[in-house]
Amino acid sequence: MSARLASARRIVVKIGSSTLVSPEGEPQRVWLNRLCSDIAALKAGGADVIVVSSGAIALGRRRLKLAKGALKLEEAQAAASVGQIALAQAWTEALAANGLTAAQILLTLDDTEERRRYLNARATLGALMQLGAVPVINENDTVATAEIRFGDNDRLAARVAAMVGADCLVLLSDIDGLYTDNPVTNAEAVFLPEISEITPEIEAMAGRPGSDMGSGGMVTKLLAAKIATAAGCHMAIALGQVDHPLRRLAEGGRATWVLAKSNPAAARKQWILGALKPAGALTVDDGAARALRAGKSLLPAGMTAVEGSFGRGDAVSVRDGAGVEIARGLAAYASEDAARLIGRRSADIESVLGYAGRAAMIHRDDLVVL
Ligand code: GLU
Repeated sequence: MSARLASARRIVVKIGSSTLVSPEGEPQRVWLNRLCSDIAALKAGGADVIVVSSGAIALGRRRLKLAKGALKLEEAQAAASVGQIALAQAWTEALAANGLTAAQILLTLDDTEERRRYLNARATLGALMQLGAVPVINENDTVATAEIRFGDNDRLAARVAAMVGADCLVLLSDIDGLYTDNPVTNAEAVFLPEISEITPEIEAMAGRPGSDMGSGGMVTKLLAAKIATAAGCHMAIALGQVDHPLRRLAEGGRATWVLAKSNPAAARKQWILGALKPAGALTVDDGAARALRAGKSLLPAGMTAVEGSFGRGDAVSVRDGAGVEIARGLAAYASEDAARLIGRRSADIESVLGYAGRAAMIHRDDLVVL
């Protein structure tokens, strides 16, 4: 199972507050440094690594001297706005000590759900990874209202993993994996090293009263597992509070692995084909049709007609000159802009539209050839 981490091409690592922040409200710097050396080793092996880090509220509440116990929403948001700076600083320093550049991204639920924003967040993350930086993501707690909060970073990490087509998601937590019951209160609880299907029995185990340990409880972990595995991404839950937690996991350390049945590319294709109804159609010339079959992106130059009314990120059909649907994908431009780009070179996009957009009408990662 260890090979799953070692052979992964794109890894999302989620770190919980209680792992990263000491009881005194300070970042665990020595531990964090070692974790960052694990990240550097994974990157040196050719993988992209994205971090989803909690800890803003825990760091901020100490600095604002907020009393123990539950915080009101606005207090939690105030704590997050103070703590996020400290959190970013801790990551910047620990990654820099290992020769890596940190990039901060703060997301709300909307950014992963609304397709236009989704495409933007995904493109930014892609550019950062290409440039070798390590994205460090947290929820944008200070602006999220109750309805648009992820609320827990397990779910945020799973959404990010799906968004970037990660093949491995690691939740570093204060528990070493999933059990049939709460191991703290039930000595009979059995550890589950591998889950190939989230059955109703497994959900019932997690849902048992007392087995949910706060914001990073088992229910949220199973929810994260569902999101990740549906996107073709394996997920591991492992103990965070050990030295070099990722190295340990790569060497076969104890964890619960929840396995995906497909891979990220296949899952994404299925999503584009199955879940989204085409809102319009693009007709392309023979050269573009050949390029698409060869795995290339659809460039504006290859388009001959645009039909329907669609926004950026909507699904569209791609047809050949005979009107046969040959592909489906997510449009990088809304229909009005697409119509103005018919037959134009990518280099002319800015002068035609008045803004610098994407070079492709449909990026190959967003395209399924039929
Ligand atoms: N975004 C919150 C923070 O940084 C953490 C949410 C969670 O614990 O999952 O404090």
